[in-house]
Amino acid sequence: MIKTVLVATDGSNHAKKAVALAIDIAQKYKARLVIVHSMLRDANSETLRKLVTRKDLTKEQRHLLDNYEIDMQMTLAGSGMEGPMVALPAPKEVLEFVTQQVLDRSKALAAKSKVKDVKTRVIGVDPAEGILDAARKDRANLIVMGTRGFGELKGWIVGSVSHKIAEEAHCPVLTVK
Ligand code: ATP
Ligand code: MG
Repeated sequence: MIKTVLVATDGSNHAKKAVALAIDIAQKYKARLVIVHSMLRDANSETLRKLVTRKDLTKEQRHLLDNYEIDMQMTLAGSGMEGPMVALPAPKEVLEFVTQQVLDRSKALAAKSKVKDVKTRVIGVDPAEGILDAARKDRANLIVMGTRGFGELKGWIVGSVSHKIAEEAHCPVLTVK
């Protein structure tokens, strides 16, 4: 019997499909739904911008999202530490509002369904460890996730997070393409 379904989302298209399927399964089994997300510390600004609904951000948040890379480059240049234009990690505040929106959107979808018990969790830095840990703590009977996320290594069949969960989870894992 499936009493708790855990779905992991990084906000990618694969993960969106995983969320939709997890809601459907939770509905049919009258199960609890746990939605988890690990902040996207490795994502570039383009990915982060795609993930937010701009109108739901404050003016300051929009400014930060649009300018953090260039501001950081300018600060580095000003301190004499100018380097090549590389992708810079987003400040914590940006990751926090992206996280909030990704989880809120998934929760809103679940709210439209017949799933009664829905919980969201921000998990630790390592998404795979965080998912495994949350699945154990919440006694998940099923983990639903995307086969891929935002990773660029398209040659690989599955991403590193879904690979690790499939190997190490204590319960069945359903990956969605
Ligand atoms: P890689 O990260 O190895 O370069 P990838 O991004 O294409 O490859 P994964 O990261 O394994 O693939 O993503 C597969 C699935 O794992 C996603 O669809 C999502 O369900 C889950 N996942 C990945 N990252 C996170 C995260 N930060 N928070 C929650 N779930 C995640
Ligand atoms: Mg990934």
